This record gives sequence, C-alpha cells and structure tokens, in this order.
Amino acid sequence: MEIGIVGAGLGGLLAGAILSYNHKITIFEKLPFLGGRFTNLNYDGFQLTTGALHMIPHGSRGYLAKALKMAKADVKIVNSKPDGTFLINGREYLYKDLFDLLGVKDKIKALKKATNLKLGIVDYNQPFGEFLEDVDLALMIGKAFTGWALSLDVYEVTMKEIINIANNYYKFKGPGVPIGGCKAVIDELVKIIERNGGNIIKEYEVKKIEVEDKAYIDDREFDIVISNISPKETQKMCNIKFLDKKIEPSKGIKISIASKKGIIKHNGVLFTPECERINGLNQVTNVDKSLAPEGYHLIMTHQAQISNNVKKEIDLGLEDIDKLFKNIDYKILHIQSYRDDFPVNHAKNGHDVGNIINDRLYLVGDGAKGGDMEVEGIAIGVLKVVNHINQLNL
Ligand SMILES: Cc1cc2nc3c(=O)[nH]c(=O)nc-3n(C[C@H](O)[C@H](O)[C@H](O)COP(=O)(O)OP(=O)(O)OC[C@H]3O[C@@H](n4cnc5c(N)ncnc54)[C@H](O)[C@@H]3O)c2cc1C
Repeated sequence: MEIGIVGAGLGGLLAGAILSYNHKITIFEKLPFLGGRFTNLNYDGFQLTTGALHMIPHGSRGYLAKALKMAKADVKIVNSKPDGTFLINGREYLYKDLFDLLGVKDKIKALKKATNLKLGIVDYNQPFGEFLEDVDLALMIGKAFTGWALSLDVYEVTMKEIINIANNYYKFKGPGVPIGGCKAVIDELVKIIERNGGNIIKEYEVKKIEVEDKAYIDDREFDIVISNISPKETQKMCNIKFLDKKIEPSKGIKISIASKKGIIKHNGVLFTPECERINGLNQVTNVDKSLAPEGYHLIMTHQAQISNNVKKEIDLGLEDIDKLFKNIDYKILHIQSYRDDFPVNHAKNGHDVGNIINDRLYLVGDGAKGGDMEVEGIAIGVLKVVNHINQLNL
C-alpha cells in the first residue's frame, strides 16, 4: 500500500521504518531536520537535544526497544544502573532505602498504603498527590518522579496512571541511554526507510488531510495517512472530526549544563525532591563521552512547569542548580521551555487520543501514546497502528 506520513518525529519515523518493509512510504516534514523533539542539537561540541533528555524510560527492555528491533534498527541502548537515586539532606539514597528515613508513624502509614495498593484497595481516580500527602517524604518523592517522568505535578496524575506506570516499570525496569543520543535512533530509522525505497521530503508543511474512499495529503493520493503531528493540529487540517474534548499538553523546562567535574556518579537519574523546582537531572556522558567535548560532562535538569510565569519558573530552576552544584564549577549551556504547540507531550499522560481513527487515518506520537509514558507510549501507539494496517485488506 502507499502510506503518507505527516511529520518526521520519532512516531512518524518509527511507523515509517517498520512499515517500509512491506509498503511504499512517503514522509512530509516541515522542518529542515528530522526527528522533531527527539534529536541532537550540536552546541560547541555538546550534543544537546531538541527535546528529550537522551533517555528511554525502559531502556533496552521496553516497547521502544521492541519496536526498534521490529524495524531492524541497530541502536545500542545502555541500561542505567541504578535506575536512579534520591538526593535528600545532601546524601543519595536508592528507592528501596527511602523507607528507613521515615519516622515510626510515617512508616505505619506508608505500610498501610503499600498494602492497600497491593490489595487493589485504591480509588483509581484519586490524584497521586492526595494518596501520598499524609507522608511528607512520600509526597516529595512522588512530586520529583511525576515532574521528571511526566512533566506533571503530583496532583495532576491519577492513581490509575501511576499504577499503570508502576506495572510497566516492574515488567520492563528502568531507563537507558542510546549511544549517540536521540539522534542515533533517528538516523537509524531514516537509513532504514531510505534503504527500503521510502521517500522523506523535508521543508514541506502539510496543509490538508482528506479521508474519503482514499486518503489525501494536500491532494496527493495515498491508501493510508498516518499523522505524527498533534491530534489537535491533525483535526484542524482534516475533513473529519474525531476529538470530543480539549487535549491538554504537559509543560516543562530543561536546562543543559557543562561541568568538568560532573555531579552524578551513576548513569541513572538523580531525583531532587528537596529542590524548589528541579525534579531531577542526568549526566549522559557517564554512558557516552561523545555527547560532550573531551574533559566535560553534559548534565540536563528537568522541571515540570508549575505556574504560567515561565521567567519565574526558570529563575527558580537556576537557583536550585546553584545550590545543587555548591562548590562544583558549571556553565549553563542552554535553557529551553516547552509548552503550547511545542510541549513536552502533546497530551498529558492519561489524556491521550486513540491511534486508529478509521482504516484510512491513524495518529502516532505523544498525543496518542498507547499506554505508557514518553517514547515508550509512542512506541506502543506505533505498534498498534502497524498491527492494524498489516491486517487490512483495502
Ligand atoms: C524537555 C523534554 C524532555 C523529554 N525527555 C524525554 C526523555 O528523556 N525520554 C523520553 O522518552 N521522552 C522525553 N521527552 C518526550 C519526547 O521527546 C517526545 O514525546 C517525542 O520526541 C515526541 O515525538 P513525536 O513523534 O510525537 O513528535 P515530534 O517530535 O513533535 O514530531 C512531529 C514532527 O512533525 C513535524 N510537523 C509538524 N507539523 C507539520 C506539518 N504541518 N507538516 C509536516 N510536518 C509537520 C514537526 O516539525 C516534527 O518534526 C521529552 C520532551 C521534552 C520536551
């Protein structure tokens, strides 16, 4: 079949690469570069990113790794060990050791929560923050996690979402870093699409999608159209309407830092529950030295954007960084804020749109995450779409 894809972000390229083995693929990308919010930005030899923190939530064991395997993509992902540590009172703790920090009363409350969770005695619609709030440390830890992983405040995430994320974590474990960073993934997908005869057209902004007896991108006919742009933008340019509610994006701020000494000893996430705004940071040069010039580390902090005053949010983040680095020299390389039409995720976790609109029109990307967080959710969505298309007889 002839398949037209709007947008060459991770979602579009992943779907394109897997489908390119059996179908004729054409991808339209409005920008002069490929990869959207999942590629590298070279800045003075530092491999900064257009979006992602060079991290794949379940490393080499998750859905993205599975989808890359299906595409026959040669990407090396190094799993983090440990997944992360929590900085409390100047000391780093593993997740399993946090319980020891609680006083007796809080230990009893925490045990009760854990038991109720295990027995399924929870209100799935309750905000995670409410569930945790009578144990101060648990609330702080929860806030750092949801801010880092979902760019959401702990009260914006329901127990249903958290339980789903926890189940995926137990199944697939923690994060990993692709060697070469995000761009290594993108380059490999592009190579596969082109090797299989697919066509990627850059600097082409799609204005119209039409779905009738066939599917059309700006009057070019296809059997199928896959949109990798936000569900909202897709609907705006499409002749059929499929959204029944407003889709809220998640907002965040990333600060990229250079430091000769570095601040993290491991290759996982350093969560910072005591910071005013920064939820966590990683030091990806602990995995791949080529992501920074020789002798330097690349460190990236992330914070959910809590208020609409972006300048104040950035200032609070910078103050946190100053305290975190105390006596360690560092230099701010880049500050990026993500919101509105260029968000962290087009749909907050739990608010995603379905992937299959009808047999001719499909959505992939982070407005249509198929059931997990970040690029893992994108990969689930892509796998659902590929599976549906492969069973079609149009
Ligand atoms: C600060 C930050 C940190 C993050 N960290 C992580 C992380 O560590 N791990 C993780 O898993 N995820 C992370 N994410 C999320 C992840 O980066 C995104 O979910 C993912 O890159 C989105 O991919 P996509 O394919 O959905 O969309 P996009 O990357 O946005 O791709 C869509 C493409 O469509 C193109 N396009 C738009 N309109 C048109 C048009 N009309 N015609 C043609 N082309 C068009 C765009 O130019 C773009 O290239 C992070 C995001 C941010 C912002």
